[in-house]
Amino acid sequence: MSSSEFDIIRRYFTDQQPSRADVILGIGDDAALLRPSAGQSLVVSTDTLVSGVHFPVDTTPEAIGHKALAVNLSDMAAMGAEPAWFTLAITLPDSNENWLTKFSQGLFALASEHNVQLVGGDTTRSPQNAPLSITIQIMGFVPERHALTRDGALVGDGVYVTGVLGDAGAGLRVKQGQFKPPASVSKLLLGKLEQPVPRVAAGLALRGLATAAIDISDGLNADLDHVLAASNVGADIHIDDIPRSDAFQSLKLTDGWQLAASAGDDYELCFTVPGMHEKEMQQKLDALGCVYTKIGIVSKQEGVRWYDESGNKITLSLTGYDHFENKKQKFGSEQ
Ligand code: ADP
Ligand code: MG
Repeated sequence: MSSSEFDIIRRYFTDQQPSRADVILGIGDDAALLRPSAGQSLVVSTDTLVSGVHFPVDTTPEAIGHKALAVNLSDMAAMGAEPAWFTLAITLPDSNENWLTKFSQGLFALASEHNVQLVGGDTTRSPQNAPLSITIQIMGFVPERHALTRDGALVGDGVYVTGVLGDAGAGLRVKQGQFKPPASVSKLLLGKLEQPVPRVAAGLALRGLATAAIDISDGLNADLDHVLAASNVGADIHIDDIPRSDAFQSLKLTDGWQLAASAGDDYELCFTVPGMHEKEMQQKLDALGCVYTKIGIVSKQEGVRWYDESGNKITLSLTGYDHFENKKQKFGSEQ
């Protein structure tokens, strides 16, 4: 390792973070030594963010640092896991000090909030003109047999989502110049796109109550489908019940529900709860101040059926939103 790489690691990644008692040896040796707790399953997930593919190239470094960790924390949330440690593999075009300072600020602000410690990683320089790439592997815990998986949804369960949907998708369109809402609305929508808030506390609260869960990274339509397919069930969803923010509603899109149901990057949770656990789930999420909405019911017939406010079946059409069909092009990548 050259001294400049070592400098980057020491200056930007070693000193700014929480220090956990279950880290025996963190950054600096050939590998980290970690102490998993007895009776817990180790939950491990990895997500890579590539500039121009997963975020627009002009995204601020703070937002990139935040989002790189947020998407991984969101996977922990969707498993009902308590996040503990992460590693960071970063491939940089150069060692721009300003960029690294701000990136690490965004990263560690969120890491501190969730008491997750960076325990190692890899730092490499990319060839000229290659995009910036950031891979985080996150590790956490869930008591054995209590993980929230995708395959447990049962006929009759309510289908729920946390928060509101569509803001990040609308934010992307603002960024692309498709909508020009007032500055306060733009700021809100862009904030949702660039600084998603992972629902870690909600995921923990849903342990033992939700029968299945997933985080909405690719859009409600796609992600709910994963749950239903894994559980061998279907769902009836009422589009009017899909929660949308005031900022989103103020755009007055004629088919706003289509965007809310198909746009990705909201990082809310979609989960199923049987009637007998509904009250307890409501109490727990209310106590957290976590907004949630019931949008439909798990049914026997496979696939999703969408209904409008009059109860008429309608089709979710992605026409006009074709960049959803190829996620790689969503943020204007040339790859
Ligand atoms: P090795 O050559 O043994 O793979 P490296 O020189 O790549 O070791 O890294 C030295 C130490 O710095 C290791 O503990 C590694 O985990 C850590 N490290 C390297 N890059 C990062 C990074 N981006 N974030 C956190 N830790 C890092
Ligand atoms: Mg290495």
